[in-house]
Amino acid sequence: MTFSIHGLAVARGIAIGRAVLIASSRVDVAHYFIAPAQMEAEIDRVRVGRNAVVDEIHRLQHDMPKDAPHELTALLDVHLMLLQDELLTTGVKHWITERLYNAEWALTTQLEVIARQFDEMEDEYLRERKADLEQVVERILRYMKGAASPVVPPASRRKTQQDLLLDDTVDVPLVLIAHDLSPADMLQFKQSVFAGFVTDVGGKTSHTAIVARSMDIPAVVGARSASQLVRQDDWVIVDGDAGVMIVDPSPIILAEYGFKQRQGELERGRLSRLRHTPAVTLDGQKVELLANIEMPDDASAALKAGAVGVGLFRSEFLFMGRQGNLPGEEEQYQAYKRAVEGMEGLPVTIRTVDVGADKPLDKTSRDGAHLNPALGLRAIRWSLADPAMFLNQLRAILRAAAHGQVNLLIPMLAHGSEIRHTLALIDHARAELDNKGVAYGPVRLGAMIEIPAAALTLKLFLKYFDFLSIGTNDLIQYTLAIDRADESVAHLYDPLHPAVLRLVADTIAECNRQGKGVSVCGEMAGDVSLTRLLLGLGLRSFSMHPAQILAVKQEVLRADTGRLKTWAQLVLESDEPATALGS
Ligand code: PEP
Ligand code: MG
Repeated sequence: MTFSIHGLAVARGIAIGRAVLIASSRVDVAHYFIAPAQMEAEIDRVRVGRNAVVDEIHRLQHDMPKDAPHELTALLDVHLMLLQDELLTTGVKHWITERLYNAEWALTTQLEVIARQFDEMEDEYLRERKADLEQVVERILRYMKGAASPVVPPASRRKTQQDLLLDDTVDVPLVLIAHDLSPADMLQFKQSVFAGFVTDVGGKTSHTAIVARSMDIPAVVGARSASQLVRQDDWVIVDGDAGVMIVDPSPIILAEYGFKQRQGELERGRLSRLRHTPAVTLDGQKVELLANIEMPDDASAALKAGAVGVGLFRSEFLFMGRQGNLPGEEEQYQAYKRAVEGMEGLPVTIRTVDVGADKPLDKTSRDGAHLNPALGLRAIRWSLADPAMFLNQLRAILRAAAHGQVNLLIPMLAHGSEIRHTLALIDHARAELDNKGVAYGPVRLGAMIEIPAAALTLKLFLKYFDFLSIGTNDLIQYTLAIDRADESVAHLYDPLHPAVLRLVADTIAECNRQGKGVSVCGEMAGDVSLTRLLLGLGLRSFSMHPAQILAVKQEVLRADTGRLKTWAQLVLESDEPATALGS
């Protein structure tokens, strides 16, 4: 039966494929396609893992004291029974042979299938056995992780969606559906095989949504109970423009969306012709279109999209998912240098680490002990609380600046004391490099304007910094007191609120007055419906995901900033800017 689930549109386009349900606790399981020749070896890995866990339980049973509670022995019997259940073994085999999933992926997929069946059971005792099943599967996975690791094909040799379409064994695109995915989880899927994403939770500018957008594949977040309503392998359509997922579509709906998908591809083809066209408005104003990146290798996508530099390298993605083992100076230096060299002489703005809030370092810290992480030890506050870690990063960035044009950007500053403390540490990092005789280069210093307090004390910021970058994602969150990651208040997260526009407009105007650089690097910069307004407010530098650059360029090419300036003032003065904008 066809039904649709509504959420928030975060990454445009249409994906049509089969649902792959992944429990968020297991997303760090590798997902890749194997070659048909590897099928037997993968089945064997699961068999060996399962047998090892069976042996372990037998040992436990053997060593069990005579007076052990009956519940415990019964539990071990249940675990043994589940491990030897045909449904588990045949299901895993099916996913490996029919879909060419790697062993871990096949195991977790079959776990989801069986878990659903448990959920539907009338008998409460049986329903509760789902937790036992999860435990035994986790044990097998842990064993497999500890055992000699499989030969995971490098990303470049993994099958792409295109390969899959050409493959006659596996010919269906896949759509990932999960309750929640952390930004680090998303990063893991960056070069993966999925054609679309849907999550139950998340706001439009949550970091998970941002990474999905950077991957340029259709995604919907905040789809509430999607992961409960969809079953493994269901056919689904993800409409990333409308924020809708259609489950079990009829042939007519499939045909309609197939048509929309082809239209989208044609539009992208048309836009790609603008790649080498300079971004100049009708009245001759030059506009700088920069890229936001998460990893050094994203530089190639930035160049391909015609970016004239990187306006925001979110360095925190180098720090995530490492179980507390943070990258040292040398590792960071190599990463920044790769990004700088990858941009072939164009400027790269590296932002110092911004973890915290919805960007935890790893899963164990996700819930954290903090009552209100968005207002807690996040970004520069986190860096200043650990000067040794911060100095490692500063030295690495300064050293990378010896290889090309680097701007150093500091997130979430609000206080004069924080600014002075940060600048003193930058000087200290330079002095350390001087003492060791290590080469480094000059950097332009910038501050993010993403807390209202910063936007209201611009003169202080401009006294110390060469340029400002407006982080509208957080500026909106903190101005309107709306958690950007919370879908239940997503309708109140409004870039066009008069207070937000006032802070953005004043920041641009003050920088322009003082001849200092200013850009917007939040999601507003890549939203084509806002390009004309930002141009009218005097903005000439936009930083966004590479995938958005050409559509924004098209808007720039059609704009006349003289006319937009007058109109933008009217919008700014309106109590209801959204109405003034005609939306
Ligand atoms: C912002 O807040 O707008 C921004 C660009 O930073 P981030 O999204 O990484 O918090
Ligand atoms: Mg921010």
